[in-house]
Amino acid sequence: MAVDDDPAALGVLQQELDKRYGADYRVICEANAEAGLRGLEQIQAAGGQVALVLADQWMPTMTGVALLTRANRLHPTAQRALLIDWGDRTTAEPILQAATFGQIDDWIAKPSQPADERFHQAISGFLYEWARLHRPQFQAVRVVGEQWSARSHELRDLLGRNSIPFGFYPVDSEQGQTLLGSVDATRERLPVVVLFDGRVLVDPSNAALAEALGVRTRPAAAIYDVIVIGAGPAGLAAAVYGASEGLRTTVLEPEAIGGQAGSSSKIRNYLGFPRGVSGAELAQRAYDQAWMLRADFVYGQRAVGLQAAGPDRVVRLSDGSEVASRAVILATGVRYRRLGVPGLEALTGAGVFYGAAASEAQAMKGQRVYVVGGANSAGQAAVHLARYASHVTMLVRGSSLAATMSDYLVREIQAAPNVTIRLGLDVVGGHGDGRLASLTLRDRRSGATQNVAASALFVLIGAEPRTGWLPEAIQRDRWGFIVTGADLLQDGTPPQWMLDRPPMLFESSLPGVFAVGDVRRGSIKRVAAAVGEGSVAIQMIHDYLSSG
Ligand SMILES: Cc1cc2nc3c(=O)[nH]c(=O)nc-3n(C[C@H](O)[C@H](O)[C@H](O)COP(=O)(O)OP(=O)(O)OC[C@H]3O[C@@H](n4cnc5c(N)ncnc54)[C@H](O)[C@@H]3O)c2cc1C
Repeated sequence: MAVDDDPAALGVLQQELDKRYGADYRVICEANAEAGLRGLEQIQAAGGQVALVLADQWMPTMTGVALLTRANRLHPTAQRALLIDWGDRTTAEPILQAATFGQIDDWIAKPSQPADERFHQAISGFLYEWARLHRPQFQAVRVVGEQWSARSHELRDLLGRNSIPFGFYPVDSEQGQTLLGSVDATRERLPVVVLFDGRVLVDPSNAALAEALGVRTRPAAAIYDVIVIGAGPAGLAAAVYGASEGLRTTVLEPEAIGGQAGSSSKIRNYLGFPRGVSGAELAQRAYDQAWMLRADFVYGQRAVGLQAAGPDRVVRLSDGSEVASRAVILATGVRYRRLGVPGLEALTGAGVFYGAAASEAQAMKGQRVYVVGGANSAGQAAVHLARYASHVTMLVRGSSLAATMSDYLVREIQAAPNVTIRLGLDVVGGHGDGRLASLTLRDRRSGATQNVAASALFVLIGAEPRTGWLPEAIQRDRWGFIVTGADLLQDGTPPQWMLDRPPMLFESSLPGVFAVGDVRRGSIKRVAAAVGEGSVAIQMIHDYLSSG
């Protein structure tokens, strides 16, 4: 469905869309927003599916953003893109705001001439994304389980993040029952996983599922030059650079390629992707690149131990096996603490943001936003957001900010005319139709609840580095982040450091073991920074290995 009030532009659109996509899709072009909405309602009433809605931003009766927002209510799975004229600067602001609030998926310049391949590349991209997520497809894996059980959710998440086509069938549904019956399984032990070739796995571990899918769950060799632990952006970059520079490289990943970035629906600040890129897509590309360069990947296995054995570093895996290497890169990242409120989880990225206030701030112009958290990161976010938002409310669980936030920041917040601090509150609910609209707050002392209108909620309640499994030889700060390089020398040479040379950049207190990305103390918690550190660490490893 394309809507544009400019008849000439609409004519070119219709021609281009019909010509390329008419054989596989129905193309509908309308000259005004009302006709477009009527068409979308009719398709909905007839039980049809819409793959893509395109709308010009500046139409007389309704903006494109407003039309796409309403289209989303009628067809939540359709891709939505704003059509813009070449060089029209007036659309920059609405695009930024609408994209940040998840009201549009993207923007696209109208076709300038027949066979405008840039236009078609974008249209194919939208259709690919829609088909990938919503068109019935071959299911390599069918899962029968309790809809709301944690393990069912984990399996869906795991399969989705690893781009494995699957279907989930609630055990109480007719299809679920039929599938269970057809493979002679019962509902006593769930989830039951049925593979494309008919094999059945009952409540499998991640490793057992990976193995059944033909994925490597054991290292191919006994010794490597580099073991990379974690396949988030930092680990993937290390794998690409290590393998491309001739180091025998293996990557251990227990969950899904892409790490935290893999859960981001759209990364907008990564260099070279002006329209943004989904974390899953970025991770898949990085994986393909590393794989093509011959890095090994081992799935479903967590690193649970690490020790030095002479010049080797030995990593113990969760199945009890071991693998050795001459150097190790720790890229295990952090896990942002979440509020655990289901209504808010569903709106992540559509007004609810974890730990990434700076990149969303500009889009908050004129909005009422909330920040949860009482530490410096929350304070900095509030101050930054106050430059753009009409009002910022800080929600703090404790009874004062003084204990958790630096004094200068408390004063800065108190001086800001458009920041309010509310103490002793929990966020217990979030509501909105495709985008956050309101929050429910509960007073910790009285238990009284209150609904407040909110355009955005920034959750900054801390992040936990995934380092609990490391040996004492690897020094961490009091929050668990790995201390590296010159930071190790701040309180004198670490006691276990036996070498004449100082620790290298990103090197931990155990020589030959490097830490990069979010897990490293002092790192910038961003995809680009993690990628940069992962690649630089390989240069350090060359230096380390050549120094004997
Ligand atoms: C929802 C969300 C949106 C974000 N959006 C943006 C954005 O738009 N732009 C931006 O720049 N940044 C964004 N970030 C931040 C960015 O994703 C992180 O800075 C980046 O992913 C850090 O990369 P990393 O490789 O250091 O760690 P991670 O991405 O955390 O990856 C670590 C990996 O290590 C694995 N692992 C953990 N423990 C072990 C173990 N014991 N053995 C083996 N493997 C292990 C994990 O399974 C994980 O895959 C976002 C973060 C989140 C959560």
